[in-house]
Amino acid sequence: VLLKTIARVTDAAMQLINKYDNFLFDCDGVIWLDDVAIKGVKDTIEYLSLLNKQVAFVTNNSSRSRDYYMKKFERLGYTNVSKDRIFPTSYAAAVHLNNELDIPEGSKVWVLGDHGIEEELREFNYIPVGGSSVELDGPFDDNSPLLVPDPEVKATVVGSTKSINYMRISLTLQYLLDPKMPFIGTNIDRVYPGPKGLILPAGGSVVNFMEYTSHRDCINVGKPSRILLDDILKICRFERERTIMVGDTLYTDIKFGNDGELGGTNGSSLLVLTGQTKKLTLDKFLEDPNEVAVFDDTMIPLYVINSFGDIIELINR
Ligand code: PLP
Ligand code: CA
Repeated sequence: VLLKTIARVTDAAMQLINKYDNFLFDCDGVIWLDDVAIKGVKDTIEYLSLLNKQVAFVTNNSSRSRDYYMKKFERLGYTNVSKDRIFPTSYAAAVHLNNELDIPEGSKVWVLGDHGIEEELREFNYIPVGGSSVELDGPFDDNSPLLVPDPEVKATVVGSTKSINYMRISLTLQYLLDPKMPFIGTNIDRVYPGPKGLILPAGGSVVNFMEYTSHRDCINVGKPSRILLDDILKICRFERERTIMVGDTLYTDIKFGNDGELGGTNGSSLLVLTGQTKKLTLDKFLEDPNEVAVFDDTMIPLYVINSFGDIIELINR
């Protein structure tokens, strides 16, 4: 299979590959769709490894931890992905609390989000509170002692959660009403593609809700934030000028590579059409980058390809 991939690599694709030493990959929509690997991508990435290219994986999904993703990569046939090359925003949140905000080990951290955030916080010796606690599952009761904030909580992390309810958001608000309480948002994604073609609310929808109700802006640790990119480049020791971002979403992935000045000051990003961005949307957007309200000219990809598995079909714009 690998030989076939090599035979299909064209000059244009080879030029792209030669231009970069390091490839950052978004996960959902590039590597897999939900639980299914996207055809040919694994072989292309194996080919990159043969050429001594370095790779890392960046997902805005905060629901899961690095340990979960390691197993997922293995299950999908990626046998060589190490934990320190996987960057879910659950991990990015813990890194930021630790490295940038200097929240001491042993501190309690309030979580409005799924298990992944709690697991990564524990890896940094933080004590997650709130989160998946079943105590918060019941109906709202304004006399509940649970509504009194714990003074030992030193930061708040908000991300994607499937157990959102009025109790959890009310309590999260109590923490955020303290203007000195650090407010981390894991990502800004409005929706994500769920199983069976469903479009579902993603972490950004929860973060945006909490920003509105608390009248505050979060520290976004997900794509397109420079905070995350700088952490990744540092941890992986990737040279900015020799790195490109591969993704399927304009306002997160492509902006991440462009604003982050990968490959030089104009940025380097490769858009694939296997996920959120459809050909029709892209064509409309490229015709007038400011026509569609949610997009702007910081989201124009340097390269476009149908699938990273089809490196042959690279369109050099
Ligand atoms: N947020 C949630 C809850 C998701 O499930 C997903 C994808 O599955 C995403 C965000 C986007 O992830 P990615 O950055 O890998 O496309
Ligand atoms: Ca994606």
